[in-house]
Amino acid sequence: MTSRFEILHKDAAGRIGKLTTAHGVVETPTVMPVINPNIQTIKPSEMRDFGAQMLITNSYIIYRKEELREKALKDGLHSLLDFDGPIMTDSGSFQLSVYGEVEVSNEQIVEFQQKIGSDIIVPLDIPTPPNVTREQAEAELETTVQRLKAARELANGDMLLAGPVQGSSYLDLREQCAHTLSEVGFDVYPFGAVVPLMETYRYADLVDVIIAAKKGLDPSAPVHLFGAGHPMMFALAVSLGCDLFDSAAYALYAKDRRYITTTGTYHVDQLQYLPCSCPVCVSHTAEQLKKASNCQDLLARHNLYVTFEEIRHVKQSIKEGNLLELVEQRCRAHPRLLSALKQMYKSSYWLEQHDPASKSTFFYCGPESSKRPEVLRFSRRLGRFSLKGKALIRASPTRIDSEFDHVLIFRPPFGAFPQELSEIYPFNTESVHIPDYESLEEAYMNFLELIGLNPHVEFTFMIAERFEHPLVEELKQVATII
Ligand SMILES: [Zn+2]
Repeated sequence: MTSRFEILHKDAAGRIGKLTTAHGVVETPTVMPVINPNIQTIKPSEMRDFGAQMLITNSYIIYRKEELREKALKDGLHSLLDFDGPIMTDSGSFQLSVYGEVEVSNEQIVEFQQKIGSDIIVPLDIPTPPNVTREQAEAELETTVQRLKAARELANGDMLLAGPVQGSSYLDLREQCAHTLSEVGFDVYPFGAVVPLMETYRYADLVDVIIAAKKGLDPSAPVHLFGAGHPMMFALAVSLGCDLFDSAAYALYAKDRRYITTTGTYHVDQLQYLPCSCPVCVSHTAEQLKKASNCQDLLARHNLYVTFEEIRHVKQSIKEGNLLELVEQRCRAHPRLLSALKQMYKSSYWLEQHDPASKSTFFYCGPESSKRPEVLRFSRRLGRFSLKGKALIRASPTRIDSEFDHVLIFRPPFGAFPQELSEIYPFNTESVHIPDYESLEEAYMNFLELIGLNPHVEFTFMIAERFEHPLVEELKQVATII
């Protein structure tokens, strides 16, 4: 049921894709601004000016308010919101998670979303928060799966049906749920109930939840990270294979007088300068913005501009093949994001399966880069180099010396590889002249493994002072160091 999503370009586990809906084709990754049918900070009809292609609203709010319900049933959702592009509708699950109950059944809200002409329908799943008991997570997941199966039976027509992946913080439940839903067949897979992880900066746990759920899905299925609206973590989430985001943040932050940037958030009263070139920021000084009677509206606009700017940045990085470099830069904005980056690279074996083998240049951005999937891939392929006789290992390429059968280049974080490969990705790495401890560690581990795989070869290593590392002592046992 994922044929409505086509993947065009890939980098890490991220992708640029096309999602086809009844109201047009959307290029992903993208963000859906959340529209509150009661209070519209910025009109839906203006949303395209910021870069929005698709909106999300809450069908339960419309259902509960007679005036909105009647208009939606009579003229349709698109007329109600005055937006002719794709609109996704949520079901009231959020209200269920906040108030513990809703005045509608799964069947009623699914049928209602169909009747008003939603493009992506969400059944009434149960968003089980992190860290509940296993019993609760399992019981609620069972109800969620039953409701999703019932919705699958009910939904017909050309709308897309979302199958939210739940399972709290139990990774095996997330994976199992994704697998079950895959078999039933949905068009979009939201990963639900992750907002509490983001609100408490538990980004490393979020990485685990995303990877677990992704493992249960077909890699070509479109994924919506439900409730993720801060641009600070788009690059990270996209690199893990998330395609859709929704932002209520642009309006909620504005209401709190908060100004979003790609590296964090300011309270507008802290700002002496506006570090942005959007139409709002070039036409106001910080002082003017703070004192403006429409400050909330202006902040919402700025917040949307930076949100979509970051999406374009992420897409450009996918095209260029340097998404992981962008992720590494963004994850330096907050220590908790750095933890998330480290956590992601613990799953490099998973990331490596999705990461394209050839890109332009490998940029070394710091110690974490030595855990990138390209380095892991190289270490797995060490057995492919068949060496014999004598091998010289040195820092830079040279003419083959008659004394040696092979010349290998030593380049952290990879290790030693035949010099013919030195201009080929990823060995054409742009790295720092004095390698850090972590990249040397990785390089020497690989070098030692290569030596172990070729026990009959005589290795001679021309070491440079900048390659000093405790592992050199180990190397001395098996190679000649000069
Ligand atoms: Zn701005």
